[in-house]
Amino acid sequence: MSRLTATASCTAYAAVVEATGEVVPQALLVRRVAWLTALARDVTARLVVARWNAADLDALGSGVGLDGQVLPSKGWMALRRLGWAASPPSGVYVCDRVMRCAQEQAARLLRLALHRRRLVAAIVATWPQNTGARTGAEWQALRALLPDGVTAADIRNRTRQTRAYLDEHHTFPADLTELEEPPNVAAQVVLAAADRQLVTVERAGDDGARLRVRLPLVEWPASSRDWAWHVVPVALPPTVPPQAALCAPTVRVAKGRARVDLPFQIPVGFAPATGHRVGCGFDWGLNGLLVGVVGKLTDGRVISDGRPLIYDASGVSAKLHRLRGEREHLAAKHRHLDRLLAGITPADSRYATLSAVCQTLGVEHERLCARIRNLNKALTWSAARWAVDQAAAAGATVIYVEDLATLEARGRRGGWNARLSGQVRGRIVEAIRHLAAKYAIAVVTVTARGTSRYCPRCGDGTSVLQHCPAPDRLGERGWRWAYCPACGLSCDRDWAAAERIVSRGLLGQHATRTHRSTGVRTIHAIVEGNVARARRTRRPTRAARRARRTRADLHPRPAARDRAKRRPTPKRPTRTPATARNNPMTSSRVPDPRTVPAPPPTSGGQRPAGHAPQPGRHQPYRTGHVRNSHHRTGFHHAKATPVLMLAKHRGGPGQATPVRVA
Ligand SMILES: [Zn+2]
Repeated sequence: MSRLTATASCTAYAAVVEATGEVVPQALLVRRVAWLTALARDVTARLVVARWNAADLDALGSGVGLDGQVLPSKGWMALRRLGWAASPPSGVYVCDRVMRCAQEQAARLLRLALHRRRLVAAIVATWPQNTGARTGAEWQALRALLPDGVTAADIRNRTRQTRAYLDEHHTFPADLTELEEPPNVAAQVVLAAADRQLVTVERAGDDGARLRVRLPLVEWPASSRDWAWHVVPVALPPTVPPQAALCAPTVRVAKGRARVDLPFQIPVGFAPATGHRVGCGFDWGLNGLLVGVVGKLTDGRVISDGRPLIYDASGVSAKLHRLRGEREHLAAKHRHLDRLLAGITPADSRYATLSAVCQTLGVEHERLCARIRNLNKALTWSAARWAVDQAAAAGATVIYVEDLATLEARGRRGGWNARLSGQVRGRIVEAIRHLAAKYAIAVVTVTARGTSRYCPRCGDGTSVLQHCPAPDRLGERGWRWAYCPACGLSCDRDWAAAERIVSRGLLGQHATRTHRSTGVRTIHAIVEGNVARARRTRRPTRAARRARRTRADLHPRPAARDRAKRRPTPKRPTRTPATARNNPMTSSRVPDPRTVPAPPPTSGGQRPAGHAPQPGRHQPYRTGHVRNSHHRTGFHHAKATPVLMLAKHRGGPGQATPVRVA
């Protein structure tokens, strides 16, 4: 049994002063929390600025304290061992536990800076000859210097940052401290560094928690009498199970509310690296964002059930693309107005108008950024939830995904799904790891190289697939469809790639490596094998059984009365009377789209975008069955294969008929 940590974001609406029983309303509570966070932020910011130099970063990075002993993992303790003292503003009384929280936050910021410093140092040491792109050898040299788990997005961002510095100063930055200003300090208090003298948290029923915390009663407390214990009731969201253990939270003020970010731990089962029989393989597709198959290992062979699982996010991706374009447009306008404003004085008559417009543009830009952020986050969790649900429903004990580090650059081909950034994919993998842990499903990355190049049906990974635009255009070159000239396989290219991934995973599971510190599981070895597609066995229907018993033809053709065609087929009489023929609402012809009236507004809020029932008996676009055939992704813009539950006592492909769940 191990433990999984997640954070619930809660809001505190009121509090009670423990000693006096005085009720603290929301506005006053927000002010007191803001005073506490401001005190901690002040200490943290001064500490970070004072230590923002190469010598002090070296000292923290060495991991050895002044006494020659290894620094403890707790940040505030490490800073104290290094002798980096912090002090509150003069005349202000701040208890030692608040100082600890401030030091903890400073230590976290400085340790994050150490990570960025290592990245920048590695990038500078292996600066590519051609600044446009690194060669294979240059990538290898860079990867050898970088710590594990650095994403391609990180490398790209740091490379751009270094190049900007190089263009401006014509020399490489000597250290991170030259490249960057000291990091911004968020106004929050990490109560995890404190103990019972500052904070306690306990359960209050199944859906609540009772937070006790000492808060200042004035902005600049002069003595311990200006601090008081507050009891803050916090309602927990339904995602926190009753058996979860609560940890000390982080408090902050956001949008005029006191927010409590409450971490909780739940026990999860152990997911072994090997011994899997049923697994799910997912490919980062071009036709769908995630395309998966369920595979079963039987007698050393992998059998799939011939059902592709597709999560298509092309709608969301197109929307994100449009929003990003708007964001760039707004940012350019904002920069232009800034330049104009810099050229005139506040006494100028145009200044007031321009600055008002500039401010509005800034607000709009912020909103657009938030919209993009929220959409990315929602897409991440929707796709991850769908993938884990599919694996759990199929009885899989392992999920194999392509390793993003080995994902080949696929050029500019592919639809909207291929344009989603690598950062979103990385977050989806993280979310899949988190959710799969709850079901004790292992998540293993496999090498992506050649997954969509070779046929999954024949040749054990040697017969090369041809890619063409469509199944009826096998002779042309394209990317959407895969065709194997050796065995005649003709299927969606991502589906073929997903079969290759699940076969690599299940056949190579003995080569699974678990990273010592991150726990990330990987299969570097490539074990190739064919995947057979087995349809689920179905009991013959009553008609089929009777036909077999009586040796009759199951599908008899009607006796042909007159096979020879000697006259033209007579026209069917039209059903609509001549008066109604030109009325688009009653004509049996599909009307011109522009003549269809808008559907009437329904009561009960805004109608979801997309399909709406048409009024009247006549429905030119029958959409009811389409709406129900997709999984509920939480988006109107994302479509996904529905999750079908398998009967409990069976499991895996080729065994049972899936049953639709609501
Ligand atoms: Zn083949």
